[in-house]
Amino acid sequence: MNGTPDERRPELILHFDNNKPRKLKYNLAKARRAGATRLLTFGGAYSNHIRAVAAAGRAEGFKTIGVIRGEPHEPLNESLAFAKSQGMHLMYVDRETYRTKKSNNMRRFLESCFGDFYLIPEGGSNPAAVKGCAELPQEIAEPFDVICCPVGTGGTLAGIAAGLGPGQRAIGFATLKGGFLTKEVAELQRQAYQRVFDNWHIEDDFHFGGYAKVPPELDAFAAKFGEEQGFEVDRIYVAKMLYGITDMIEAGKFEPGTRIVAVITTG
Ligand SMILES: *Cc1c(COP(=O)(O)O)cnc(C)c1O
Repeated sequence: MNGTPDERRPELILHFDNNKPRKLKYNLAKARRAGATRLLTFGGAYSNHIRAVAAAGRAEGFKTIGVIRGEPHEPLNESLAFAKSQGMHLMYVDRETYRTKKSNNMRRFLESCFGDFYLIPEGGSNPAAVKGCAELPQEIAEPFDVICCPVGTGGTLAGIAAGLGPGQRAIGFATLKGGFLTKEVAELQRQAYQRVFDNWHIEDDFHFGGYAKVPPELDAFAAKFGEEQGFEVDRIYVAKMLYGITDMIEAGKFEPGTRIVAVITTG
């Protein structure tokens, strides 16, 4: 390598890849094999996962039920209006009840309402989702050293890291505060592969106050980045990752010449 110092700066490669269909792929296959006709899942009112389940259910011939956190608001926001347009049945539960979504009582209650269903957890993160995301790295044509993604529930990072080749590593940027996501990602890998990979870590310093918090500094960064690159930068997930990567490059946290892929998870 005899590039000038400038050419040996870390290189940022944007890779547009919607993670939600990947997370659903093997879940739908499992649901079909189990003979399920209904998919049931959970999400907030702005959940991309709810939208994705509604669309996939419609495309693949499943009925879909979305259990939504909070009160109904008319008119529906764009996400829920879309979900409904795809035929999803929306059921609203208050925040306190929503917190019991993983309990047996909740499951029994939902079965008493809807009959049998194939359950997909909030955000879609389970072992089947992790295996779907593990297919992402090998579809990237350019060679790279580091791959970055935003982290919400952790399934995407758990899978991406599991799908890497030797010498490659993954960095997840937490979009929620609280520092609990490393544990979640490790647990998802344990469930999917019976082991935790050591080629990834989570950066917890770029959540900007927590989920869906978008202070002016982040908004301005996202607006500028989007203008320069010619796409609309999602503020909830993608902007926090891109801000984090940019900050780390400027702070010299990557070796010169490192090829960094940023997965733009909105596709
Ligand atoms: C859901 C989502 C994520 C987070 O994925 P997890 O697997 O839940 O960590 C990241 N980016 C976008 C755009 C999303 O919709």
